[in-house]
Amino acid sequence: MTKRTARATARANIALAKYWGKSDVALNLPAVPSISLTLDGLVTTTTVTFDEALAADVLELDGRPASAKETARATELLDRVRASMKAPSFARVVSANRFPTAAGLASSASGFAAMAGAAVHAAGLSWSDAKLSALARWSSASAGRSIFGGFSKLPAGVPGDAKLAAKPLFGEDHWDVRIVVAEAAKGPKKVGSTEGMERSRLTSPLYDAWVEKARAITAVIEKALKKKDLDTLGAAMEQSTFAFHACAMSASPSILYWQPTTIAALRTVEALREKGTSAWATMDAGPHVKVLCHAADAAKVKRALAKTEGVLATMVCKPGAGLQVK
Ligand code: ADP
Repeated sequence: MTKRTARATARANIALAKYWGKSDVALNLPAVPSISLTLDGLVTTTTVTFDEALAADVLELDGRPASAKETARATELLDRVRASMKAPSFARVVSANRFPTAAGLASSASGFAAMAGAAVHAAGLSWSDAKLSALARWSSASAGRSIFGGFSKLPAGVPGDAKLAAKPLFGEDHWDVRIVVAEAAKGPKKVGSTEGMERSRLTSPLYDAWVEKARAITAVIEKALKKKDLDTLGAAMEQSTFAFHACAMSASPSILYWQPTTIAALRTVEALREKGTSAWATMDAGPHVKVLCHAADAAKVKRALAKTEGVLATMVCKPGAGLQVK
């Protein structure tokens, strides 16, 4: 009986230019380009062991057996790796999302990036970062970006392009910025991202406008990132956020991810700016507010958010590294 094993770590990321909408549901291709920042501290560690003795894939997540649905998502990724193996077998996957509990941050991004790295390595394959990114992206678009540290970009996908991968833009040392996370509510979101995106595409009168505008916004963000121009980048990031949320809100039935605390935190960010601090907000498909600022302002931003009515917890994240395989 042969066993082949590998361990990998990856970190979650936050989109500065948001991803919302798919151009190809089967291949999980995004309809819009996105740019993200991989974050330190939000680490997933995953060990994959291909084992001939197993009769099915087994996934252990955060110390418990994963649900059937979670295991099926892992099997989909593993099947794509097994297709390139000479002697494929089932695998045991042991994964832990070592996030501070108050994060409200995407676990699928770091989770599938780490799984892709560990599975490909355990299979004895030497795949390029682009190929690893395409594999992770198929399971979760944001996971394709977490292969890379610092700032990375996932282009919009042309339907049918199974190889679509993210690419690195700038490493984690490019720019000393921070993301301050304000947790605005407990509990899972009511409408998952995949369902929300499809409902937006099929029913929102703003969907086409969002897709059209997202390209221009992403171009502004990429340029501002290169120049380290926080105010230009921040304004474009806020427009990207509000445009995609408007698209979701105007779907039928409407999807509203915000809570009263979300608005309160947005007002705090506005007030910080009025007093001269360059702080800019973004939200994903959920109620939490994530604020981009210079490293030197992070403590001040954190204090202001922590004092905001309803905010449950705050956390400061700095740029982090990409996939690491052992
Ligand atoms: P999130 O906003 O946390 O990314 P999603 O609902 O998009 O939430 O993704 C959560 C799903 O991602 C889980 O149900 C599971 O299927 C998968 N997932 C998350 N973390 C891991 C992990 N470490 N290993 C394998 N799968 C994971």
